[in-house]
Amino acid sequence: MAASPFALRVTFLGTGDAFASGGRSHACVLLETGGECLLVECGAAAPVALRRHGVSPSTIATVLLTHLHGDHAGGVPFLLLDAVYNEPRTAGLTVAGPRGTRERVLALADLLYPGLAEKARQVVDLRFIELEPCSRLAIGSCTVTTAAAVHGSGATGFALRLEMAGRTLAFSGDTAWTHELVNASHDADLFVCECTGYDNAPPGHLSHRELVAHRPELTARRVLLTHLGSDVLAQRDRLTFEVADDGLVIELP
Ligand SMILES: [Zn+2]
Ligand SMILES: [Zn+2]
Repeated sequence: MAASPFALRVTFLGTGDAFASGGRSHACVLLETGGECLLVECGAAAPVALRRHGVSPSTIATVLLTHLHGDHAGGVPFLLLDAVYNEPRTAGLTVAGPRGTRERVLALADLLYPGLAEKARQVVDLRFIELEPCSRLAIGSCTVTTAAAVHGSGATGFALRLEMAGRTLAFSGDTAWTHELVNASHDADLFVCECTGYDNAPPGHLSHRELVAHRPELTARRVLLTHLGSDVLAQRDRLTFEVADDGLVIELP
């Protein structure tokens, strides 16, 4: 069998904020390695982005959620809907997120499609993992380390450090500046960092100005901005970090 041309492929399916500013889809990043597909975030618009990129929801083995806001987690019920009514799954689905993930996801599924949660339990090998702050555990082929984010969302929010296929990826989730981001992204191959504002960000979010100020502390080999608000997009030519756009693909050897 021919060797895979990459160890880990990272596809940015959604790089927008909660308001889908600039027409960007809600947060969702697809990680593929050795035939395994994992999503980091699955915002409300993620099912559209998956189909647009030719990815069947039934191929997703794991969804990792940094927190439970709709622009990060609102698409999960549609993965269940797809498995029940459209493309049956041959493999299970693991959803990992903060404490309360099971209740919030199943309640949302039932609000949108009454009875969906029970139907999904009957036909999908559905597993929930509730992550704790400062924990480290293996989920599939990925080792996940959590760091506490500063972001009110009705449940603890995390930044995530993922070790997978010999590579290290860090995701800020949504958060105000915290030194936890420095630790979570230390020497990572990629650090995918939210940047909701340009000079100023709403509470619980990061601005470009803050990231510039903290840049000397960041040791990741590549920092990509995501979760871009309208004023950041308006200043795009002045951004001093790389920007992740919807559809960006990075193949790590
Ligand atoms: Zn968000
Ligand atoms: Zn949020």
